[in-house]
Amino acid sequence: MTNNTCFAPQRVLFEERALDYPLGRSLWERFRKEDKEVRVIGSHNRVTGLPGKDPAEKFKEAKRTLVVGVKKDGEFAKCRPSADFQLVLSTSCPGMCEYCYLHTTLGRQPVVRLYVNVEEILERAEKVIKERAPEETVFEGAATSDPLPLEPYSGALAQAITFFAKQEHARFRFVTKFTCVDSLLDLKHQGKTEFRFSVNTPEIINRFEHGTPRLTARLQAAAKVFQAGYKLGFLVAPIFLYDGWQKSYEELLLEMKDTLPAKAAPSFELITHRFTARGKQNIAAIFPSSELPLSEEERRFKYGQFGYGKYVYTKEQYQEAERYLSEKINVYFPSAEILYFV
Ligand code: SF4
Repeated sequence: MTNNTCFAPQRVLFEERALDYPLGRSLWERFRKEDKEVRVIGSHNRVTGLPGKDPAEKFKEAKRTLVVGVKKDGEFAKCRPSADFQLVLSTSCPGMCEYCYLHTTLGRQPVVRLYVNVEEILERAEKVIKERAPEETVFEGAATSDPLPLEPYSGALAQAITFFAKQEHARFRFVTKFTCVDSLLDLKHQGKTEFRFSVNTPEIINRFEHGTPRLTARLQAAAKVFQAGYKLGFLVAPIFLYDGWQKSYEELLLEMKDTLPAKAAPSFELITHRFTARGKQNIAAIFPSSELPLSEEERRFKYGQFGYGKYVYTKEQYQEAERYLSEKINVYFPSAEILYFV
């Protein structure tokens, strides 16, 4: 796959209503000309009949399935600590990270969904922004997906970036592990969008991520984004405290420093690894030979904001990781801001 086609679905399912929208119609015409399974379904939330003889195969097939749907009206969900609200432009992503945060919420068949009614979604966002003004409202575009691989099909990020450029009282941020950034580089973003990349040590990427660009490619894409004048940020996530983690994360920071332009002062969001009971069950079914560290005995149980508990590192491990990583970020990126450590 090239830099500008992060995702090539094998089958494309269209929610009937999506065909009433110009984007739905043009995607329908486009995919019908390609050698793929293309069909109409009743609702983007009910996808049945995907092939696969076990959960692992069904998961892979779901990740190769693009659903083109219409996002229903509804309140914007809260999105702490990264923003005020989620701005859902897509759901799921073609990557197959064993530790994906979506295993808990999207279950075992996370088909990749894009929404054709971006204009309507942004109109709803504008209403919320106006109601809350002059307070600033921050929207997160990656709470339910990695939106970048869908950009060549939907153009949703470009629309959102252009929309937020005109909003006095709002900002937009999203995060990606993908690299198809070129179509976003020349947009008039007016500094209102923060473009973040999710990174990890090469050991973690090679072991637990499948179908995502490797670290060096991500950092090269980040350098382009910085040169295009976007606010740049990094999520170091999930942070695993394995044998030798200190050295590995320091090397990661060093590679970041060496690849990024000298003037870059990115923000950092640091998220330690956590898992839920439901996520663990789904991971066991989807990746039966996964070596992810998911032992409840070695973790501390904590209630989360979405009503279910999660297993996080112990207080001592957590404090040590925060101390060490903050210190090293200060060494390699003295002007960088650490937005939070969780
Ligand atoms: Fe999940 Fe992000 Fe990996 Fe996609 S890239 S599978 S959203 S962790």
